[in-house]
Amino acid sequence: MEHIAAKFGLIEPPPHKQPFIAGEVALVGAGPGDPDLLTLQAFRFIKQAEVVIYDRLVSQEIMALLPASCEKIYVGKKQEHHRVPQDGINQLLVDYAQKAKKVVRLKGGDPFVFGRGSEEAQFLLEHGIACHIVPGMTAASACTSYAGIPLTHRKVARSCTLITGHVQDNGALDLPWHTLHDAEQTIVFYMGIKSLPIITEQLIEAGRCADTPAALIRKGTHQDQQVIKGSLKTLEALVTLHNIKPPSLIVIGDVVGTFPHEQLANLGYLTP
Ligand code: SAH
Repeated sequence: MEHIAAKFGLIEPPPHKQPFIAGEVALVGAGPGDPDLLTLQAFRFIKQAEVVIYDRLVSQEIMALLPASCEKIYVGKKQEHHRVPQDGINQLLVDYAQKAKKVVRLKGGDPFVFGRGSEEAQFLLEHGIACHIVPGMTAASACTSYAGIPLTHRKVARSCTLITGHVQDNGALDLPWHTLHDAEQTIVFYMGIKSLPIITEQLIEAGRCADTPAALIRKGTHQDQQVIKGSLKTLEALVTLHNIKPPSLIVIGDVVGTFPHEQLANLGYLTP
C-alpha cells in the first residue's frame, strides 16, 4: 500500500476535497479489520496523523500504517467496563485539536454506524473545531460479504435492517420487535451476542418462523473469522457450544441460506 501511495501521490487530496489542517479532527472509519478494506481516503488521513485516538476494534495491521512519530492513545471499550468514558474521549479530541495537532479518531467499521462518531462530531463543532468524516466499511456489509451472505437477494430479501442488540443497564432490550417480522427482511444485529436469547425469543414471538436461517460472524474479515450458521431456533445453542465471544455480528433471514456453508472456501471466496 505504501508504494501505491507514493506512486499516485495519495497524500494529496483531489482538488475538490478539503485538505487536513492542523487543529482539525478526522473521524476515520477503519473498516472491520482486514486492512485490504481500508479506503484510500482513510489511508491518506492515517498517513498524516500526528495523534491517533483509537478503539479496540481497529486491527493491528491498520495501526501499523500510522507514521512512527504519531502519538497513539487507546480509548477502547470492553463490554461492562468502559476504559475511557465517552465524555473523556470527546474532551481528548478537543484538547489535542487545540494543541494544533492533526488528530485522527480511528474507529472500527464506519464512524457513523453505531460508533458514536456523530456525537463526537457534535461536540467538536460546539467547540469550534472542524472535522472530516471519512467513511469506512461497516461490519454488516463487509463481514456478511466475507461470510458469503448477501444482505439482499431478489425474491428472498428486499430490505435490510441494521439494529443494536446492546442491552440497557437493567438487562432489557427494548426494540420495535413488531417491525421485524417480515420474512423478506434481513436483520443484522450489532453488539448482540449477550442478548442473543432475547433476540431469538422476541423475533419468534413477533412472528418470524423459528426455522429462519441465522448466522453469527465472529471477527469478520480477520484471518481467524468464524462463521456459524443455524436457525433462529438453534443459533443460541451453537454459540454456547462454540463459546463465541464479541466482536460478533448476528444475521437473520433467508439470505443466510443463499450459498451452502461448504462453498465458503476462504474469506469472501465461494467455490462451486
Ligand atoms: N462502527 C462499527 C460498529 C461499532 S459497534 C461499524 O460500522 O462496523 C461494535 C459492534 O460491531 C460489535 O459488537 C460487533 O457487533 C460489530 N463488529 C464490528 N467489527 C466486527 C467484526 N470484525 N466482526 C464481527 N462483528 C463486528
